[in-house]
Amino acid sequence: MKSRDRNGDKAKFAGAGDETVGNGWRFRRSGGLTILECVPLARLDWIVHGFSTRGGGISSLLASREEEKSARLLNLGFTDWDARKNVMENRVRWLKALNAEDFTLRPLRQVHSDAIELVGGADSSPSRPVSPGSVRSGDGMISNQPGLLLSVQTADCLPILLVDSKQRSIAAIHAGWRGTLQRIAMKAVGKMRMEFGTRPENVVAAVGPGIGPCCYEVGYEVAREFDSQFADAALWFDEKFERLAGDEEPNPLPWLTMAPPGHPLPPPRTSLNLAAANRSILIRAGLRAQYIFLCGLCTSCRGDLFFSYRNEKTTGRLLNSVGMRPTSSSS
Ligand SMILES: [Zn+2]
Repeated sequence: MKSRDRNGDKAKFAGAGDETVGNGWRFRRSGGLTILECVPLARLDWIVHGFSTRGGGISSLLASREEEKSARLLNLGFTDWDARKNVMENRVRWLKALNAEDFTLRPLRQVHSDAIELVGGADSSPSRPVSPGSVRSGDGMISNQPGLLLSVQTADCLPILLVDSKQRSIAAIHAGWRGTLQRIAMKAVGKMRMEFGTRPENVVAAVGPGIGPCCYEVGYEVAREFDSQFADAALWFDEKFERLAGDEEPNPLPWLTMAPPGHPLPPPRTSLNLAAANRSILIRAGLRAQYIFLCGLCTSCRGDLFFSYRNEKTTGRLLNSVGMRPTSSSS
């Protein structure tokens, strides 16, 4: 089921300037790109951050749709269909648009894990800011070193950026259903506490664009796994979840009665609200509810703005970045 407003508010974003999305989010035009940003983070002058959008690069998909053939896409991840040099040029544009040309881009080889890497120190390589270099595996990074642009790639999964405004440290997290199930956001906060003395109540969280409950159908097994891990899991699934996972012995009867006569029984499915799940996990990690900002935009519904793996299969990658500006006024 697609959201009703798939194209409804498209015009609002076309050629978006500094526009308000609401709930503490806005679009900003810079260097030919449209950057989605979280206003409370944008107000911190020692923080650079942004969630990328679809256009403004030099990549092009071999699309069947005419309008896509000429589209210049900002693909920021290395994919089978795109040339490496295109991605590198797109990444240069991304750093430029963020006004972070002197930052070192720190991506990850993402593996749907709960592994969080501490970055900074001797292993950074400022000489080649957009090169993949020696990229480590994992799905989250934390740092308190200025000049590094921690960046996670997404095309439906949820990007989460954390900023500790008192101890001055940051995190970038990639949370799909597997990472969410493993509480990766909570583990990132825990690692910030351990490494930097971060107090969770000082952390601001920006939960960026990902696939919404409107489009994110998952199978019975996923619902069962969440139900076994979280007391409030039912709140993150649609009403079918009760029938899927509510009983101790799951009852297949509601599904049997839904099948038209003579038709094979469809596998039971429900829809998952990843953003709501991660919000709850962050609150349990000690964050204040009022410091957690959900952008609420669905990557699958908003194909005009974002890349969606579920919707497109062959598509680009968004980059979601946060860094600390080098400053002498650090307290
Ligand atoms: Zn959607």
